[in-house]
Amino acid sequence: TVLVVGAVNTDLVIETAHIAAPGETVIAARSSTGHGGKGGNQATAVARLGGACTLAARVGAGFDPASLPGVDTSALVHDAAPTGLAVVLVAADGENAITVVPGANANLAPADIRLPPGPPGVVLASLEVPLPAVAAAARLARAAGWRVVLNPAPAVALPPALLADVDVLVPNEHELAVLGSPADLLAAGVGAVVVTLGAAGCRVHRPGGTTTVPAHPVHAVDTTGAGDAFCAALAWALDTGRPLDEAVRLACVAGALATRAVGARAALPAAADLSRAASS
Ligand code: ADP
Repeated sequence: TVLVVGAVNTDLVIETAHIAAPGETVIAARSSTGHGGKGGNQATAVARLGGACTLAARVGAGFDPASLPGVDTSALVHDAAPTGLAVVLVAADGENAITVVPGANANLAPADIRLPPGPPGVVLASLEVPLPAVAAAARLARAAGWRVVLNPAPAVALPPALLADVDVLVPNEHELAVLGSPADLLAAGVGAVVVTLGAAGCRVHRPGGTTTVPAHPVHAVDTTGAGDAFCAALAWALDTGRPLDEAVRLACVAGALATRAVGARAALPAAADLSRAASS
């Protein structure tokens, strides 16, 4: 099982000729709502791969669990605050402006985290929820023989006790700049640092050395959510018993395939898509 710990948001996307300046009123062309949040995206991606996936998160009244197809939502905690909201303004020239209201996500607490029953699996956490909840999940996981994959997004400096509980840290280059050098992270006890490089693939830093995995060639339409698909596939592959090298290769393919359509969840691959693309 993969236990995903992270945020769940509703995304309100507004397409507008231009982004309103302070004090200005703009009539926009159209709006649409979607499902987002790194926790929701990553859990949906694991389920799409066919993995058993439980999501630990907080949502508000009226949250529809059908927005998380295939995910075990029985551990979701219902909060008095509303479900997290991301308002995304997209201008005709492609520029965007995003405001996020964390809502219920801000209240995810250590006591909300329980490991699902069954053999040890993998915890996959991200940082759009409070650090104490993430640290508690990592601590519980490490103590019970689970592995911990941490996607440190958005990046903040991480406490040494948390770093020591992380098996695989998956930052992009911007996040890595906040966290410190791979050598320092490995010295702090992180098992491996996998740096995602967009269209350049990823770099794997381990105590034994550094390797680079090229990207899977793809016609990218929208890279939103590529990192979430990458992390989900990595956690899923580790949970299925694959070694890190193979898990990283599959994660690169999953990240690439996820860029084929607009939206974080529009092009998530199934396991068969991954093996077909990986062998082509
Ligand atoms: P984030 O979205 O978190 O910034 P990246 O942009 O680094 O993460 O993307 C995560 C992974 O997705 C990359 O490591 C790569 O494997 C894959 N990926 C992203 N963009 C592309 C692309 N244009 N072509 C092929 N693979 C891509």
